[in-house]
Amino acid sequence: MYCFVCGEKLEPTIKLEDGEDEFICPSGLHFRDLGNFGSTLHDSLISNQYFEIVICDNCLQKNWDRGRLVPSR
Ligand SMILES: [Zn+2]
Repeated sequence: MYCFVCGEKLEPTIKLEDGEDEFICPSGLHFRDLGNFGSTLHDSLISNQYFEIVICDNCLQKNWDRGRLVPSR
């Protein structure tokens, strides 16, 4: 998969015991987004789909340093 921000290719995909491929992000975040009500582009309640998104640690760090990444609890 590729970083959503910079396009860097992140490896690897590993083989699970059942033979299926699983993407394990070694140097960044990998998450699924369900969209939300109000988005004109993506709302999983309408499309019944989700986005898989990867952001590399370098891009996270740059955005953290710029104050664009705000932790929450
Ligand atoms: Zn990146």
